[in-house]
Amino acid sequence: MITLKSKEDIRMLKKSGQILRSIIQKLQRQVRPGVSTMEIDILAGKLIKEKRSVSAFLGFNGYPANICTSVNEEIVHGIPGGRILKEGDIISLDVGINYKGYFTDAAVTVPVGRVHPKLKELMKVTENSLSEGIKQARPNNHLSDISYAIQSYVEDRGYSVVRQFVGHGVGFSLHEEPQIPNFGAPHEGELLKEGMVFAIEPMVNIGTGDCKFLDNGWTAVTKDGFASAHFEHTVAITEKGPRVLTN
Ligand code: MG
Repeated sequence: MITLKSKEDIRMLKKSGQILRSIIQKLQRQVRPGVSTMEIDILAGKLIKEKRSVSAFLGFNGYPANICTSVNEEIVHGIPGGRILKEGDIISLDVGINYKGYFTDAAVTVPVGRVHPKLKELMKVTENSLSEGIKQARPNNHLSDISYAIQSYVEDRGYSVVRQFVGHGVGFSLHEEPQIPNFGAPHEGELLKEGMVFAIEPMVNIGTGDCKFLDNGWTAVTKDGFASAHFEHTVAITEKGPRVLTN
């Protein structure tokens, strides 16, 4: 069942989303060559606490850190640790918080110093594909209109979407129904209604969309070792159309 959020719920989710955005912005400023992913996680933990929020990831299915930091070929669920960022890397920062019972989830991929133009383009295509998906999050569209918009934008530009991970409902908990794949034919699945709140999150690869897992059991990396990018917003479906809660 897809839970519907009231206008008051969406007002609270917007607050949660604004806090989340301010945290991500501060973390982005910490990204530079020589910094370890663990240092970014420690800062995240401090910022989340300062905002009287709780990490929605820490302890979720046993996840061991505040945020996910996925570098280069890591697609999602990179666990912060000793990896030192180098000039030319890209890193995705995926953060979810619970603010007074209201959960929001967002991710960005950012460059570490100066990066290759191909990586810049990968990030741009991924971010734009998220915008294309968000545009479809409106009443009376079907769920897969979001999926189709993302997939077609990405593949028309020669990139691949990751199929093994999907977006999801969010708001009263981190992962709610429905699943929102980043691929699919249009006009299928659930009819979208005012009050639905979704985390839409394309993961896009330069090479194949296939992934494999690291020994930690969490981190997905590209099978071919080429880079991957990830952007995510929490979005409410309103009578006027999509409303991004995490910007
Ligand atoms: Mg998510």
